Amino acid sequence: MTRRISILGATGSVGTATLDLVRRAEPDAFELIALTANRNVDALAAIAREFKPRIAVIGDERQGGTLSKALEGTGIETASGPTALIEAASRPVDWTMAAIVGSAGLEPTAAALQDGAAVALANKECLVCAGEYFIDLAARRGATILPVDSEHNAIFQSIYPGHDRFIRRITLTASGGPFRDWPRERMGSATRSDALAHPVWSMGDKISIDSATLMNKGLEVIEACRLFGLPPRQVDVVIHRQSVIHGLVEYVDGSVLAQLGSPDMRIPIASALSWPERMETPAERLDLARIGQLDFEPPDEARFPALRIARDALEAGEGATAALNAANEVAVEAFLQGQVGFLDIAGLVSDCLGSLEGSAALPQRFGGLDEALDVDSRARTWTRDALSTVNSKHA
Ligand code: NAD
Ligand code: MG
Repeated sequence: MTRRISILGATGSVGTATLDLVRRAEPDAFELIALTANRNVDALAAIAREFKPRIAVIGDERQGGTLSKALEGTGIETASGPTALIEAASRPVDWTMAAIVGSAGLEPTAAALQDGAAVALANKECLVCAGEYFIDLAARRGATILPVDSEHNAIFQSIYPGHDRFIRRITLTASGGPFRDWPRERMGSATRSDALAHPVWSMGDKISIDSATLMNKGLEVIEACRLFGLPPRQVDVVIHRQSVIHGLVEYVDGSVLAQLGSPDMRIPIASALSWPERMETPAERLDLARIGQLDFEPPDEARFPALRIARDALEAGEGATAALNAANEVAVEAFLQGQVGFLDIAGLVSDCLGSLEGSAALPQRFGGLDEALDVDSRARTWTRDALSTVNSKHA
């Protein structure tokens, strides 16, 4: 039976990996409804020509004309701008890949969940910024959230049906990122390309920098608590350089179930795309004898303070985690643009949280998405303003 699917953030790292699986499937396995991108109009036009969705949407309004010209005569509808993204995301499908990066993905993902179908959630920011809203929305609309983040997908796969009430603890693994062996002093002068050189995974720029600061793992602890309904003390992190074990679930009897696989995002994406069944992938097969050894160590919060900052925000509530995410997005972008140093990223996030929490209590939970977007925008403004101070410190 042909399944109707949409891919939000189709030109990104996760979007491209998803399309790779669709390309390899039987020709009538999937029918593309919507493909979206933010700015890369050429890449969007190319995949639209190949996959023939009903609609292709570019987030950047100024590129709308270029897109429609590029797809002239193909019969593919085109649109542009944030409202068009939301409209395309709300079109009825059987499955949506939510792979827009950042809090820009909140409204389109919410629109997809409204429709009540399955949503493969790569965009962890939804749960970090407004977890309760998204979990509740999925429940009300009868939608299924299928976690795509490799650690969360591993845990999802390792929860024996009906045994979630017997979970004692879950563990997210982390490769440790490119600076896992660097002393903190050296990180101060880390360049953009040092930070983007992830030792194991190939991912978009934003999440690659988050992996270098370990903020990614902090965001993932928040994501896991909200996704699996667990308190923070039941969610652990362990550094595991080979990234072969992705997540572990410990039960009350001492049994531990884990999911293993090569570090290739096509494995968790395929698990979500074929759910509740399975599909073939071209991912490298795991050869434990060849790997020989798996290493584990605790994360070093002195060298990587982002993990502690994220845990503190999680204890404080949703207002703090939404502010954490927004401040981090601005700080990472500033680092990528060469405006601030690597260690300033966590510093800016921590200062932003301190300032926002100091001026007025951030809500513990949000009544709706608007409230989350409001905190997001306040934290962005605060961090952008603070960039000038950091810049002068650097000068
Ligand atoms: P990416 O930067 O490679 O791609 C992002 C996609 O979102 C692109 O298609 C881009 O056009 C679109 N986009 C960016 N800004 C947008 C905006 N303002 N409005 C609309 N669309 C916008 O990112 P990625 O690495 O594929 O990550 C996507 C999401 O998946 C992130 O939330 C990330 O944390 C999560 N994730 C990624 C990986 C990975 O391996 N790359 C693993 C786990 C989780
Ligand atoms: Mg992950």
